[in-house]
Amino acid sequence: MSSVPDFDCPDCGEPLVHAHTEISSGAFRTQAASMPQMPIHYYDCPECQTCWKFGTRLLPDPVRQIARDSHGQS
Ligand SMILES: [Zn+2]
Repeated sequence: MSSVPDFDCPDCGEPLVHAHTEISSGAFRTQAASMPQMPIHYYDCPECQTCWKFGTRLLPDPVRQIARDSHGQS
Protein backbone atom coordinates (compact mmCIF):
# COMPACT_ATOMS: atom_id res chain seq x y z
CA MET A 1 0.00 0.00 0.00
CA SER A 2 2.45 2.61 1.15
CA SER A 3 5.77 2.53 -0.59
CA VAL A 4 8.78 3.82 1.26
CA PRO A 5 11.69 5.04 -0.81
CA ASP A 6 15.13 3.71 0.00
CA PHE A 7 18.06 6.02 0.64
CA ASP A 8 21.71 5.76 1.42
CA CYS A 9 23.06 7.85 4.29
CA PRO A 10 24.44 11.13 2.90
CA ASP A 11 27.07 11.06 5.63
CA CYS A 12 28.47 7.56 5.43
CA GLY A 13 26.78 5.90 2.47
CA GLU A 14 25.13 3.07 4.39
CA PRO A 15 21.51 2.18 3.55
CA LEU A 16 19.14 3.99 5.87
CA VAL A 17 16.60 2.06 7.93
CA HIS A 18 13.03 3.31 7.73
CA ALA A 19 11.76 4.17 11.22
CA HIS A 20 8.23 5.41 10.64
CA THR A 21 6.05 7.60 8.47
CA GLU A 22 3.84 10.53 9.37
CA ILE A 23 1.32 12.36 7.26
CA SER A 24 1.98 16.07 7.26
CA SER A 25 -1.13 18.21 7.47
CA GLY A 26 -0.79 21.94 7.15
CA ALA A 27 2.90 21.94 7.85
CA PHE A 28 3.63 24.01 4.79
CA ARG A 29 1.25 26.85 5.35
CA THR A 30 2.58 29.11 2.66
CA GLN A 31 1.67 26.58 0.00
CA ALA A 32 -1.06 24.69 1.81
CA ALA A 33 -3.70 25.52 -0.77
CA SER A 34 -1.81 23.87 -3.58
CA MET A 35 -0.07 21.10 -1.69
CA PRO A 36 -1.89 17.93 -0.74
CA GLN A 37 -1.09 16.12 2.46
CA MET A 38 2.19 14.35 2.05
CA PRO A 39 3.87 11.58 3.98
CA ILE A 40 7.09 12.29 5.83
CA HIS A 41 9.35 9.27 6.05
CA TYR A 42 11.76 9.02 8.97
CA TYR A 43 14.99 7.08 8.79
CA ASP A 44 17.84 6.08 11.05
CA CYS A 45 21.35 5.30 9.91
CA PRO A 46 22.55 2.08 11.57
CA GLU A 47 26.16 2.98 10.84
CA CYS A 48 26.62 6.56 12.08
CA GLN A 49 23.39 6.78 14.13
CA THR A 50 22.22 9.88 12.30
CA CYS A 51 18.48 10.55 12.02
CA TRP A 52 17.01 11.68 8.69
CA LYS A 53 13.64 12.58 7.33
CA PHE A 54 12.33 12.70 3.79
CA GLY A 55 9.49 14.95 2.67
CA THR A 56 10.40 16.51 -0.61
CA ARG A 57 14.06 15.81 -0.05
CA LEU A 58 16.27 14.07 2.46
CA LEU A 59 17.17 16.26 5.43
CA PRO A 60 18.80 15.74 8.82
CA ASP A 61 16.31 15.39 11.66
CA PRO A 62 17.87 17.11 14.71
CA VAL A 63 14.69 16.71 16.76
CA ARG A 64 14.72 12.94 16.58
CA GLN A 65 18.49 12.98 16.83
CA ILE A 66 18.31 14.71 20.21
CA ALA A 67 15.49 12.48 21.41
CA ARG A 68 17.39 9.41 20.35
CA ASP A 69 20.57 10.54 22.02
CA SER A 70 18.79 11.30 25.29
CA HIS A 71 17.08 7.91 25.26
CA GLY A 72 20.07 6.07 23.97
CA GLN A 73 21.28 4.69 27.29
CA SER A 74 20.41 1.03 27.52
ZN1 LIG B 1 25.29 7.20 8.22
